[in-house]
Amino acid sequence: MERMEPAAAPSGEVEGNGVDGPLICPWCDGEDVEKISEYGPHLMVYSFMCRECNSPFEVIKR
Ligand SMILES: [Zn+2]
Repeated sequence: MERMEPAAAPSGEVEGNGVDGPLICPWCDGEDVEKISEYGPHLMVYSFMCRECNSPFEVIKR
């Protein structure tokens, strides 16, 4: 049995306006972002890539 982590508020991660809303790149504030992974390195995040500055970032699932 795996231990369930509490859904605590994350710190140091990007928080989008919900994954369905418009996302803004945390690096350049660009809106041209692309979801590159439904399941990133962590189950609780989506992986995105900003097309404007080519920087990856993660968004916490709500
Ligand atoms: Zn960017």
